[in-house]
Amino acid sequence: MARYTGASCRQCRAEGQKLFLKSSRCYTGKCAVLRRSGLPGKNGQNRKKTSEYGLQLRAKQATRRYYGVLEKQFKHYYELAEKIKEGKAGENLLAILELRLDNVIYRIGWGGSRAQSRQLLLHGNFKVNGKKVNIPSYLTQAGDVISITEKSRNLESFKSIIEINRSRTYPKWLEFIDNENFEARIIQIPRREDIDLEVEETLIIELYSK
Ligand code: SF4
Repeated sequence: MARYTGASCRQCRAEGQKLFLKSSRCYTGKCAVLRRSGLPGKNGQNRKKTSEYGLQLRAKQATRRYYGVLEKQFKHYYELAEKIKEGKAGENLLAILELRLDNVIYRIGWGGSRAQSRQLLLHGNFKVNGKKVNIPSYLTQAGDVISITEKSRNLESFKSIIEINRSRTYPKWLEFIDNENFEARIIQIPRREDIDLEVEETLIIELYSK
C-alpha cells in the first residue's frame, strides 16, 4: 500500500505539533519539534496568514498524519462518523481512528509508533478475541480483548519492544487483564478528552461538508 515515506519529523514541524511518528525518539529531547521551532523549508518563516480553508486543511492533514492514514481511507472514516446518530461527528471521527487496531496496539505500548505497530501486525503477532488479525485498519470495539500470540510472547525482539514502551501511560479506555501485560481489553469507546491530539476536529467536518 502506498504510504508517505518522507522525513517523519518534517511532517510534525509542518503541523507545528508532535505527531509521534517515530518510536522512542518522540519521547526524548531529540524531538525536532522541541529543538527547532517554525515551519520546515527555507521559506518556512515567511508563510502568509492561514485562511479558513487553510486551517481546515491543516486540521485534516495533522489528523491524517497522526494516525498514518491515506486520503481515501480518511474520507471513508469521515463518512462513517457522519452516519453515527449519537454524538458529534468530529469526535466520532477521532474515536473511529483511535479504534483502528494499529492505533490500539500503539496505545497499549506493544508498538513504539503506529508505523511500527502496523509492521508488527502485518507479521501476525496479535489476536483479537482469540483470533489472529493482521489487518492494521481492523476496527475494534468496546469489549474486545487484544492479545499477543503465544509464539510472539517469547520472542526476545518483541519482549524488548514491550520493555521500552512499558513506561508510557496508556489511555483510560484500555486496561490490562493479565500480569505480564500480554492481554488488554477495550473498556469503552474513546472519548475526546482521552485523545491527546491537539486539533479542532470540527474544522475537518467543515472541510468535508463543503
Ligand atoms: Fe520527530 Fe517524533 Fe518529534 Fe515528530 S514527535 S518531530 S516524529 S521525534
